[in-house]
Amino acid sequence: MSFKPANNIQDLQYFGEFGGVNPSISDSSTYTFLSAKTMFDTFEGNADGCYLYSRHSSPSNLYLGEALAAMEGTETANVAASGMGAITATLMQLCNAGDHIISSRTIYGGTYAFLKNFAPKFNIETSFVDITKPESVTAAITKNTKVIFCESVSNPLLEIANLKTLSEIAKKHNVKLVVDNTFSPLSISPIKLGADVVIHSLTKFINGASDTVGGVVCGTQAFINDLRNVNDGASMLLGSTMDSLRAASVLKNLRTLHIRMQQHSKNALFLAEKFEANGLKTVYPGLKSHPAHKLFKSQMNEEYGFGGMLTIDVGSLEKANELMEMMQQKNLGYLAVSLGFYKTLFSAPGTSTSSEIPEEEQKQMGLTDGLIRFSIGLDADIDRTYNMMKHCMEFLNIL
Ligand SMILES: *Cc1c(COP(=O)(O)O)cnc(C)c1O
Repeated sequence: MSFKPANNIQDLQYFGEFGGVNPSISDSSTYTFLSAKTMFDTFEGNADGCYLYSRHSSPSNLYLGEALAAMEGTETANVAASGMGAITATLMQLCNAGDHIISSRTIYGGTYAFLKNFAPKFNIETSFVDITKPESVTAAITKNTKVIFCESVSNPLLEIANLKTLSEIAKKHNVKLVVDNTFSPLSISPIKLGADVVIHSLTKFINGASDTVGGVVCGTQAFINDLRNVNDGASMLLGSTMDSLRAASVLKNLRTLHIRMQQHSKNALFLAEKFEANGLKTVYPGLKSHPAHKLFKSQMNEEYGFGGMLTIDVGSLEKANELMEMMQQKNLGYLAVSLGFYKTLFSAPGTSTSSEIPEEEQKQMGLTDGLIRFSIGLDADIDRTYNMMKHCMEFLNIL
């Protein structure tokens, strides 16, 4: 039987202290103790259910974290102020100076820049590999390797990681498989495929409102305790903490994630099929032409589809810019980075979200100038949207 992430979220029963149908918001940075002894125990990490200080944890953040842990099937989770706050804390917690990371070379530009430019300051080196070739991961392993890092669906090229195979490699060499699942919430459940830690940027589909940044690390109780440790925990000490008011807001948006993902996926598949039939170079994991279509199918929770992200290549940056400007003018979406909004968002990754990656490396990985990344919105009438997009493309001689 397949994993049911949305049921797991639904089955948590949360209510407020006055019987409110939403949990009460903890509007406090610090918490009182009835006895001095309990305060001491809480510092030592021995007083379950007691709150100390909101950078460590807060009721609202725990509610959101537990719902996301239920979604990913982990023991628990820790929310963060942003996706990067979750990623950097996790990697800094898992690695010491002298350690080595193996990362997919097609990842979010911020993560790439952190691994390439920032982590070396702490003598943490990263080998970037083609994650679709697991043998290149094995070949990169050294005695210092601590982490294999990848995105289940990569940004922006939509490559699919074979999480089962990668987790086998990780286990064999006693390293942790850390998966950024931002592009495929609900549809892919990395823990069920053997991952050790799952991270999300909540900024994207999970919150879905483009009104905040946020992140989460889902993992074992032991690992999350490590992150929160007052003496050496990266989340506690680096301080990338989500605010309680925002955690309550993200939790309310999480309630509709399953419905939104189904609509994002339905609309994206519709457009991808049409674009491809029109002869456009289209990449979408739901298309049979996608090199990892079968792999995605074998890893997915089917009811959520292949996700809301697709790319097309219109030949040149100039054409890409013209098309995006025209589509925005016709109110078909916004020329903006980020993803997971109700409205379609589009950008040219080479000059925006992946601009941290040097041009030469962009070429190598197939990140072409004319590439447009779409985060397809929740449009009620996607056929109408398609026809309007098609008109723009015809007008600009793209079709
Ligand atoms: C946006 C994004 C991040 C970073 O998240 P922030 O919330 O912007 O810090 C990390 N990984 C992926 C795949 C993303 O799309």
